[in-house]
Amino acid sequence: MRTLLLAPTLALALSTNVWAQSAGDFGACLSELRAPARAAGVSDAAYARHTQGLAPDMGVIEKLDNQPEFRTAIWDYMAGLVDEERVEQGRALLDQHRETLNQVAARFGVDAATVVAVWGVESNFGQSFGSYPLVQSLGTLSCFGRRQGYFRGEFFASLRILQAGHIAPERLVGSWAGAFGHTQFMPSTFERLAVDFDGDGKRDLMDSTADALASTANFLQKAGWQTGQVWGFEVKLPAGFNTGGEGRRTKRAMADWAARGLKRVDGSALPAQGSAGLMTPAGPSGPAFLVTRNFDALYSYNAAESYGLAIAHLSDRLRGGAPFATPWPTDDLGLSRAERREIQSLLLLRGHDIGTVDGMLGDKSRAAIRAEQTRLGHEASGRAGQKLLKALRN
Ligand code: CA
Repeated sequence: MRTLLLAPTLALALSTNVWAQSAGDFGACLSELRAPARAAGVSDAAYARHTQGLAPDMGVIEKLDNQPEFRTAIWDYMAGLVDEERVEQGRALLDQHRETLNQVAARFGVDAATVVAVWGVESNFGQSFGSYPLVQSLGTLSCFGRRQGYFRGEFFASLRILQAGHIAPERLVGSWAGAFGHTQFMPSTFERLAVDFDGDGKRDLMDSTADALASTANFLQKAGWQTGQVWGFEVKLPAGFNTGGEGRRTKRAMADWAARGLKRVDGSALPAQGSAGLMTPAGPSGPAFLVTRNFDALYSYNAAESYGLAIAHLSDRLRGGAPFATPWPTDDLGLSRAERREIQSLLLLRGHDIGTVDGMLGDKSRAAIRAEQTRLGHEASGRAGQKLLKALRN
């Protein structure tokens, strides 16, 4: 996920690598990469061991080129990522890992709820890692398609991780683009920031929860997390407030915001100290937030404000906080994962082949949703919200 937003300079690699156009060229490409891999610290023995007989997975090139079919609305995104199921599970895990999380907070200065919220959004608390063998997918991305230069760096990093013995080769699986483990770090991020917290000599983000939680906290600390500070909070804007020119990066003193009439949503005054930017992810009529530099640290995990807001909100919910006070500006709110599974079950009942009920609305589910929307006289958008769920329940 993360890699989609990085380094545009690598598009330049495209023209110089047109020779590697087909799967048949993969072996030649891997031979070609041996010298740069060696220069990047991968021994010939390790390179041979992990690339011998490797076949390309051209499916990852399709993923690289595939643009999402439509933009997900913020209320759909948030409804799926911060639902009651995830809040409940996160609270149970906070209790279960209390001791480790306290040690992590003591060493890195990042509180337990924030660390667990990242864990929940990144990998559903370690339940969804992705299943692409990293060496294969990163090797393929190093030899075909756009951005080969970027992926070569990650490919070599994945080989160095194996060479160092942190993770067993068969366990090094992840997203198609190479993010892996509880924290979904890219291999180069792993090398910079992963931590051996359980003291077994390995930095293991696949099978050690302690290493994963500590690595997340280390990431946030290095991204500028300020201990004891909030990420921000929801605010109420005065009527007619002009949000033009405001945003996450436009930090102003809390006193300035107070002078312009902003209050917290419970009506209380803003803190006297500190500075924050004003974020209105659904425009001025939706929820509004003042966000501090700690929000920027969350943002840097994936370079998306919606993503940062999901972590921030989940962390508040884990601390016992309430859902946002201001409703999203829509008459058709998004679905939780439980509701997405219910939609899928209802589509199955109506005879649509949507595969397994997993709460992920993929191409098959979208096609079935469109068919049902057409039958119901709704706009055939392929998007499922509360309106469709209610209609299908009847
Ligand atoms: Ca370890």
